[in-house]
Amino acid sequence: MSETIFSRIINREIPADIVHEDDQCLAFRDINPQAPVHILIIPKKAIPTVNDITEEDEKTVGHLYTVAARIAKEEGIDGDGFRTVMNCNEHGGQSVYHIHLHLIGGKALGWPPFPNG
Ligand code: AMP
Repeated sequence: MSETIFSRIINREIPADIVHEDDQCLAFRDINPQAPVHILIIPKKAIPTVNDITEEDEKTVGHLYTVAARIAKEEGIDGDGFRTVMNCNEHGGQSVYHIHLHLIGGKALGWPPFPNG
């Protein structure tokens, strides 16, 4: 499996603004934030895309959401609300092929996300 920039962040080969770590996942601030709060929550297991998630990954992927909820509370955006997104492949806008849950909030977000069709 090819190494991505996120594997290098997990291995501390490149720096990141880490806000949470446990045995299953790592969470850090997005380098190009799209909102006041933009955090990426990634499994330590290198799963390339949502297409590659298997039943054995269900606990790990579910854990990403538990951590997202905890961080949202810590960041003070749980009450107003936020968005969690996992992009897949080219049409989904995925650019790093190690699944990651975007936690985005701190302002009102537009919907639908594709206003130009
Ligand atoms: P996606 O387009 O869904 O694959 O999201 C990848 C995200 O990773 C983008 O929002 C990037 O800004 C973010 N990103 C890329 N490199 C880094 C990095 N070194 N540290 C933090 N975030 C990064």
